[in-house]
Amino acid sequence: MKALTWHGKKDIRYDTVPDPQIEHPRDAIIKVSSCAICGSDLHLFDGFMPGMESGDIMGHEFMGEVVEVGAENAALKIGDRIVVPFTIFCGECDQCKRGNFSVCERSNRNKSTADKVFGHTTAGLFGYTHLTGGYAGGQAEYVRIPFADKTHVKIPDGLSDEQVLFLGDIFPTGWQAAINCDIEPTDTVAIWGAGPVGQMAIRSAFLLGAKHVVVIDCVPERLAMARVTGATTINFKEESVVERLADLTQGKGPEKCIDAVGMESHATGSFDSLYDRAKQAVMLESDRPHVLREMIYVCRPAGILSVPGVYGGLIDKIPFGASMNKGLTWRMGQTHVARWTDDLLSRIQEGQIDPSFVITHRVSLAEGPEMYKTFRDKEDGCIKVVLTP
Ligand code: NAD
Ligand code: ZN
Ligand code: ZN
Repeated sequence: MKALTWHGKKDIRYDTVPDPQIEHPRDAIIKVSSCAICGSDLHLFDGFMPGMESGDIMGHEFMGEVVEVGAENAALKIGDRIVVPFTIFCGECDQCKRGNFSVCERSNRNKSTADKVFGHTTAGLFGYTHLTGGYAGGQAEYVRIPFADKTHVKIPDGLSDEQVLFLGDIFPTGWQAAINCDIEPTDTVAIWGAGPVGQMAIRSAFLLGAKHVVVIDCVPERLAMARVTGATTINFKEESVVERLADLTQGKGPEKCIDAVGMESHATGSFDSLYDRAKQAVMLESDRPHVLREMIYVCRPAGILSVPGVYGGLIDKIPFGASMNKGLTWRMGQTHVARWTDDLLSRIQEGQIDPSFVITHRVSLAEGPEMYKTFRDKEDGCIKVVLTP
């Protein structure tokens, strides 16, 4: 079959690879109908996440039709149309019983390595480093789904791929980011990053009743897409984020702050960005935490910092004293996708939201390698890419 494979920094290829096989009786194989490139894939593309191996199949946001089912999988049958949550979960361990699917204790087949690096393992993820299981991803014609009797969302008739595809990742990710803010009707929610995750977080914050949403980025078309919702935007290349947020909140700061940027944040000319870039270049720091520093500084005392943005390892110069003394609450994590999908599927069916608004590029899987570059460099107005095998 054909798939997009990783071969090192900035080297994604459209390759011929072996077809996946059923390896465990709970598995299923799907024929992919649509898949997407996620901001998390860019951290692999840019070579910032450790644990990738040459030839690994990329992709963790995908859906398709079940074409083969393992002997112990009574939940799926051939012909079912499913979206696949990117966090693989068993449904039976202590964490899964609590709905903490992204830290499933059983789905990471490289658990012992993750135990050493993180202290305790997290869930297995598709197409996302050998630290999280090294499972083949969904930017491919076919994918093997481990624990497929649990790790799926069945899609009812009448909904298009584009309406439901993002249930596998960015929609629940933006939603969880907003849920983690415990939004109250008087809240100003500030969101750093108007990429696909930021866009979902903006709409989720409004659906959850935020009074005011302020969005920070530097890409004009992303800020324009944010403003459609009624959000206020700040272009961090043109104005001071700290001063604008103070003006917009009568000097008090936003109650809730969301980091939808992660480990590759940019900062125009500030001292800390130069420092982070230098340390990252010589591997003394793996991530650039400019947004985290800014959130700690601007957040209203007793506020909440919600971090869906992905970090991989070590960060430096975090003003933890300010965070402690201001009494800030931190919430973060890979998304517990399946905790939210029933609710979000209903909201799509009821017409409360159509997540396909974020798609700007529709191409074939073969055009994937070029599209990684277009998405990363935000060329051609690119906000979200959907690929069809
Ligand atoms: P993206 O790269 O398209 O978006 C990031 C945006 O942040 C860009 O528009 C960029 O211009 C902006 N940005 C950069 N520096 C900034 C700064 N200093 N201030 C404000 N904005 C800044 O990616 P995406 O798909 O939207 O993903 C965003 C983050 O969410 C990534 O880190 C990704 O890995 C992560 N993610 C996490 C989960 C999860 O389960 N927690 C799921 C999906 C994605
Ligand atoms: Zn993702
Ligand atoms: Zn589990």
